[in-house]
Amino acid sequence: MAKIQMKTPLVEMDGDEMTRIIWQEIKDILITPYVDLKSDYYDLGLVHRNETNDQVTVDSANATKKYGVAVKCATITPNAARMTEYNLKEMWKSPNGTIRAMLDGTVFRTPILVKGITPYIPTWTKPITIARHAYGDVYKNVEMKCPAGAKAELVCTDKDGNETRETIYNFECDGVIQGMHNKSTSISSFAKSVFNFALDTKQDVWFATKDTISKKYDHTFKDIFNEIFENEYKAKFEAAGIEYFYTLIDDAVARVVRSNGGYIWACKNYDGDVMSDMVATAYGSLAMMTSVLVSPDGVYEFEAAHGTVQRHYYKHLKGEETSTNSVATLFAWTGALRKRGELDELPELVNFADCLEKATIKTIEDGIMTGDLYLLSKLENKQKVNTEDFLKAVDERLKALLF
Ligand code: NAD
Repeated sequence: MAKIQMKTPLVEMDGDEMTRIIWQEIKDILITPYVDLKSDYYDLGLVHRNETNDQVTVDSANATKKYGVAVKCATITPNAARMTEYNLKEMWKSPNGTIRAMLDGTVFRTPILVKGITPYIPTWTKPITIARHAYGDVYKNVEMKCPAGAKAELVCTDKDGNETRETIYNFECDGVIQGMHNKSTSISSFAKSVFNFALDTKQDVWFATKDTISKKYDHTFKDIFNEIFENEYKAKFEAAGIEYFYTLIDDAVARVVRSNGGYIWACKNYDGDVMSDMVATAYGSLAMMTSVLVSPDGVYEFEAAHGTVQRHYYKHLKGEETSTNSVATLFAWTGALRKRGELDELPELVNFADCLEKATIKTIEDGIMTGDLYLLSKLENKQKVNTEDFLKAVDERLKALLF
């Protein structure tokens, strides 16, 4: 069979440690034998980020804006230990943070379900996608400790110098205060990304805040979502047969637990932080979680939800065998190739991505899996394989689906 041709390059962001090893193996075993891969390659590995003073991260985000679709490998976010390990010039910022800020995107995380691995909540038979707002609130807060006798006030000075004041509290004892903000533009972008993603994936949207208690702050989120939905999306949602549902966060949590899944749960920044870990754990494993950053103007960056799997990398360096789960990284590739195929009207590329995902799930459901899933799977015929043998087993099934 001739290789599948592409029209527009995919922006490829290489990364670090074990996921960098897996990245190359996925390309060699499962992509380039079948697809004439056109990629605009950026090496976001820490060594090269350090050499380029992190310019490569900015360049890769700009290329993503230009071409519209990127696939990213997990990367190291430097800390003190990495400064020494990699002899860094500076403690470079998280590439994900830089890219997210440049694309102004929302991150959508969805579990990959397979037979044999039952979620801790067994009624969750369909995936729950968490869409987390990635700007502001407690993550950009200002905090102070206040001594007994202090009067704490909230002051907003407008551009003409007029002040609006509210007393927060007159402290009769020691205490603490915190100031938070968000921006209408960021909340609007969040709402649009969520509604676009819902139309893309034909799923309902649930959104929840605590607007009964937070009558201005949280209520603003509710109002902006409602206004954008009514003005720009209502008719499109009706045509697609999907719904937008708003409720209070406590009610949402109770409904989520009783639900079967199969919808997008849009969360404010802190709610998303907490709930995405709860949902990932309940479905089984971070290595079975896809993650895509979607900007309000329709730019997509696909990645795995997990990190660089450092412990396995050190084993690999010592020449020991590893059994690292490549599924989330593989699904980052299929997500990106499918989106590229849809945008460029290349049904063969879309079909290839679908087949590769089916082959991956079939491999695990046939009982062939990496060590992390081996511990979770209830299949009787399960067999633990190493990193590379898993990909080869996927390839056998991919060939059967393609030819
Ligand atoms: P990690 O996700 O790499 O590992 C957390 C735990 O989950 C470890 O026990 C690991 O063995 C296990 N695990 C994760 N993915 C796995 C897989 N595919 N197969 C088998 N087991 C898997 O996170 P960490 O250890 O906190 O961080 C390691 C590095 O990754 C750090 O330098 C961090 O900065 C980076 N990181 C990057 C991203 C990203 O680029 N998106 C996200 C998180 C962490």
